[in-house]
Amino acid sequence: MNYIFDTPTPASVAIHGSDDRFAVRRIFCVGRNYAAHAREMGHNPDCELPFYFTKPNDAVVDSRVSIPYPPKTNNFHFEAELVVAIGKECEDVKREDALQHVYGYAVGNDLTRRDLQSAAKLKGRPWDASKAFDHSAPCAEIHPINQISDIENSRIWLTVNGDIKQDSNINKLIWSVPEVIANLSTLFTLMPGDLIYTGTPEGVGPIMKGDVIRVGIEGLTELETKIV
Ligand code: MN
Repeated sequence: MNYIFDTPTPASVAIHGSDDRFAVRRIFCVGRNYAAHAREMGHNPDCELPFYFTKPNDAVVDSRVSIPYPPKTNNFHFEAELVVAIGKECEDVKREDALQHVYGYAVGNDLTRRDLQSAAKLKGRPWDASKAFDHSAPCAEIHPINQISDIENSRIWLTVNGDIKQDSNINKLIWSVPEVIANLSTLFTLMPGDLIYTGTPEGVGPIMKGDVIRVGIEGLTELETKIV
């Protein structure tokens, strides 16, 4: 049997301290997972369960790879996020067992066409065009979980051309990493290769052609993206 097209090279992310790469299966993203960001988007963070959207696996982009300003938007936004890389299958996992299924952590940027997202929200339409476009998921190298201590109390920040735009801490997540994995695994069987973008803190804003965005989380490799 032959495929009628060349099969694509698997989408993948670099691994810290290794030449091996993490093949990406799916990309899940958590909406509104920091209270101050939920408020800045006009929502009450106290009365919402976590919710999810997805991006295609080939939206992933390595650090220091430039990406084009996307078409059909005039309000292109950054979102600094902790990315969880799943290493072991799990379904309906308990919160206390959730971290056994994590391969590692990385720094990500959930790039967003905010104008298309606002229009979709108003009409109750899907978010794909605002969230799941080409190059929308920059991700720095993954650090294996056994090399990380206390990610849940780490500073997360983002700069645009050196100016600080987001500055928060992973301990401000409404739904912690184990809680997100537990809840998401009630909806989907999580598989090795799945990435979870866990949500962004407050301070999201626009980026322009020529901007350099740096995202950092204490203990992890920084993510750098230039818009061209
Ligand atoms: Mn996000």
